[in-house]
Amino acid sequence: MILLNGKEVSDKLYNLLGTNNDYAKLVVFTVGNDPASKVYVRNKQRACERVGISFENIIVDENISDIDFEKLIEDVLYKYLFSLDTLYSHLGMILQLPAPQHLVEIFNNSENVPPMIDVDGFGNENFARIMCNEKDPYILPATPKGIMTLLNNYNIDVEGKHVVIIGRSNIVGKPLAQMMLRKNATVTVCHSKTQNLKKITKTADILVVAIGKPKFINETHISDGVTIIDVGINRTEEGICGDVDFERVKDKCYAITPVPGGVGPMTVYSLIENILMQQ
Ligand code: NAD
Repeated sequence: MILLNGKEVSDKLYNLLGTNNDYAKLVVFTVGNDPASKVYVRNKQRACERVGISFENIIVDENISDIDFEKLIEDVLYKYLFSLDTLYSHLGMILQLPAPQHLVEIFNNSENVPPMIDVDGFGNENFARIMCNEKDPYILPATPKGIMTLLNNYNIDVEGKHVVIIGRSNIVGKPLAQMMLRKNATVTVCHSKTQNLKKITKTADILVVAIGKPKFINETHISDGVTIIDVGINRTEEGICGDVDFERVKDKCYAITPVPGGVGPMTVYSLIENILMQQ
């Protein structure tokens, strides 16, 4: 069984980015006090520091009005892109999730956050482009992008393969399905209302699980030789685990990601790449 080691692959890729990237800046908007969010924001800060990208976390009051939030975004854009004393050639902005829906909508509006600056790739313009064969998104969302990079690093080609994705969120399942289609995979997307899930997952060459249910997938869901990408991050009393019961499936797999150390580090790396690869 091949362990798809996202920590190792991302370490290798970070080294290629060097440490002299102070022309770039990431601004994170954090709303409220979600403890998991704090961990994710800290990881993003560390990744920026590692490659020399300037980092700022702006704490936003949960009761901020729509108009004030729009103004805040505009002020940050002007401060870092157009003011002479703090000029960055590469600026990325993200809204840390979860956030109130009305603020998400403001942030995702490309008139507020231009698609090149939307380095999570969740904004309306990037999202629309990923659905459309004729146009490439400016930015690809970090988790699906990290999964594609990881598979590529282990020479796992998806062309012609049956890729089953469980989970249809806007940040993982849906964009990943489109990215897999662009690479000529045959894609099935399952979700909480899918009937006969096992029947479908057993036909997968590559199974991607992004549902947020600890150890939900076990050896009864899969066929021999499958590649499993476990996106889940679940905090349990025994520690962090994925959506897949690693111990129960590992002997049947051709390859599998560990949790932690699989998709997580690839997601953060992809965000950093999105900031530095802006044109
Ligand atoms: P979400 O929480 O928005 O949605 C869950 C999805 O799972 C839904 O589409 C739902 O239909 C599906 N689902 C739930 N129960 C199911 C069931 N019993 N059978 C089939 N489908 C079911 O999804 P999300 O935001 O993509 O997050 C999913 C998981 O991935 C969470 O654990 C999250 O923490 C993790 N995550 C990890 C990373 C990373 O970098 N590793 C990034 C994003 C999300």
